[in-house]
Amino acid sequence: MVDAKMTNPEPKVGSPIIEPPLPSTHRPATDSPRQIPLLPALAVVETPRFHIVGYSVAGEESAVQIPELNVVFDIGKCPRPLLVSDFCLLTHGHIDHSAGLAYYLSQRIFQGMSPGTILCPAKIADGVAGIVHAWAALEGKVAPHRIVPMEVGDEFEVRKGLIARAFATCHTVPSLGYTLVDRREKLRPDLLEQRLPGHILREMKDRGEKITYTVDVPLVAYTGDTALGETLLQDGVRDAQVLITECTFFDPSHKRRAAIGRHLHLDDLLEVLPQLRNELILLAHVSRRTGLRWAAGTLKRALAKSSVHPRVEFLMDHAQHLHVRPGKAAAFVPTEPPSVDETDG
Ligand SMILES: [Zn+2]
Ligand SMILES: [Zn+2]
Repeated sequence: MVDAKMTNPEPKVGSPIIEPPLPSTHRPATDSPRQIPLLPALAVVETPRFHIVGYSVAGEESAVQIPELNVVFDIGKCPRPLLVSDFCLLTHGHIDHSAGLAYYLSQRIFQGMSPGTILCPAKIADGVAGIVHAWAALEGKVAPHRIVPMEVGDEFEVRKGLIARAFATCHTVPSLGYTLVDRREKLRPDLLEQRLPGHILREMKDRGEKITYTVDVPLVAYTGDTALGETLLQDGVRDAQVLITECTFFDPSHKRRAAIGRHLHLDDLLEVLPQLRNELILLAHVSRRTGLRWAAGTLKRALAKSSVHPRVEFLMDHAQHLHVRPGKAAAFVPTEPPSVDETDG
């Protein structure tokens, strides 16, 4: 975990800080009540092939879901909508990325879902299992689950044709990033040209001839926390359709912080940006030390200096803010008691 200290608690526009209501004595009597965010707001980004739903603020919480691909990268504190993904791809064990693991596994069972699967760096697999079992000592049972230890280059089939592939990242603790790859088998071009009938192709296949070739399309890569190193230039990362990368620091005076915590600074990203081939880059894990509006201005000025670069946006700029007016809550209507066994809570 990094950057837990908040030296600048002043909320910025676009930043999902939950702001406590002012004490009534401090509120101007003539003003209407201030609106305050109801919940930590989840970002929702629509891309041509899938949505990206999540929340990511450095040191606080990171969890990013691709609902259509049945995957959540990191689990944060397990925001409720993210529970429904069957596969959690954990990048590392820092608590802002992993705090909700036991809840994710347990709550899925409570809600009648299938046991969750957690992919994680092999070096922390025992630690993850330890957390799950430690919680079982409190709950009286172990939530059914599966833990899959992963090394750099390992692949895991999420479903037929959808592969999670681990790639190297460099952080202060064991860590991995993940690329989700759309893998398809296509007919060899020379056979395609010949327009051979199906039974001939089947015979060739039965004789053991390779009649197809594999096409991998990297759909989305998620880095988790990382320093620059070679992270962003690896195959499957620099050319993923969508790259979700951390970019924790923007202020020139925060470069040392970035180096110590093994995080990315904007200057690191700018260094490799011309080599990235992504259709969209989403920046996550921005420190609360940085106001999003200020960071956006800094990014815009930096990008203006280069004519060709991928589209770069902030994940949390897509946050869906829900607001309530203090004192204007909706009437509470009690519902029928739920039929589920609430003794599990
Ligand atoms: Zn983090
Ligand atoms: Zn971390």
